[in-house]
Amino acid sequence: MSSNIPQGTYLFQGNTLVMPGDIPDSLIHEGIPDNHIPASLGSSIKILGPGLIKSADLPADMPLPAGWRGIPMRQALSLMTQDVMVDGTGPVGWLLRAYHIAQWQRESVFCGSCGGRNETAADSLARRCPVCGRQEFPRISPAIIVIITNDEDQVLLAHNKQFTPGVYSLIAGFNEPGETLEATVVREVLEEVSLELHDIHYVASQPWPFPNSLMLGFRARYAAGTIKVDGVEIEDARWFSRDMLPELPGNGSVSRYLINRWRERKF
Ligand SMILES: [Zn+2]
Repeated sequence: MSSNIPQGTYLFQGNTLVMPGDIPDSLIHEGIPDNHIPASLGSSIKILGPGLIKSADLPADMPLPAGWRGIPMRQALSLMTQDVMVDGTGPVGWLLRAYHIAQWQRESVFCGSCGGRNETAADSLARRCPVCGRQEFPRISPAIIVIITNDEDQVLLAHNKQFTPGVYSLIAGFNEPGETLEATVVREVLEEVSLELHDIHYVASQPWPFPNSLMLGFRARYAAGTIKVDGVEIEDARWFSRDMLPELPGNGSVSRYLINRWRERKF
């Protein structure tokens, strides 16, 4: 993480970022200034390990202080700019880190080996089981996302069943045990749209804590095959020209960042 330490505190309530209503959208990733934190919440706030981020995951049934608002975390990310997202250091990185850890702490109450009740280590992010000694750290699951272009200067975009109707984005999928990231790119594209690729290159990454992914963005060139969607995850996939693009994913996602780079003829 950045050597700078955030001044503000990040408060969550489940998957929602909560804060005083007078903090503008442009500053939500900076956290809540100390003088805006009611004394009643002070005892809930913890320092998140060596990152020195102040954070709390408030109980789901706790009423918010008067005048506060909640923003779903995915929506909070869409309020931020592309470059800050992919840079990954600074306040957006702190917010993503605090959110990722808050979720993991909810899911790591008990030891995954013997079922003992984990204790939080004082000197690191780890949780330790006092019964069998097992240590657990926040889990990070790598996933690839790839922008595919062809010799006609078109981009392959797909509609996933989970997307908002009409929105098209890039092919993505989780890395599996034993795979290189490049192999994941090849397998996912073959499985989802039946295309073969060449010239596969890494471009940029983005922490995506929904709940614990690290998105690894690639670019690749079409090599062979005819689009045939899997019909399970992908409902439709097509080649799109620059001047005929469909509705795209919102700002704050690595998919939009990669598409924007292509539109700007960066690759
Ligand atoms: Zn144990």
